[in-house]
Amino acid sequence: MFEGTRPARIFVLHCLCANCQRPTTRRVQIPRMEGAPTTVDEFIEGLEHNPVPFACGHCESLIGELVGVTIENDHVAA
Ligand SMILES: [Zn+2]
Repeated sequence: MFEGTRPARIFVLHCLCANCQRPTTRRVQIPRMEGAPTTVDEFIEGLEHNPVPFACGHCESLIGELVGVTIENDHVAA
């Protein structure tokens, strides 16, 4: 096992600003380790316990609606 040498999985949160309605994305790196989320569903589940702070890049509003999550580099060999 060479856990430390694997690139982190990058989840991309797609949010819609509650104030200006513009989309914002936020990249979250999750190390590939035991217990870490490996799928979008697991990641969203984890968000309920550890919400990622939102900040609109356009108007600095702190309230956003999560509209989707994608994985950026899941094609990288584990
Ligand atoms: Zn905004």
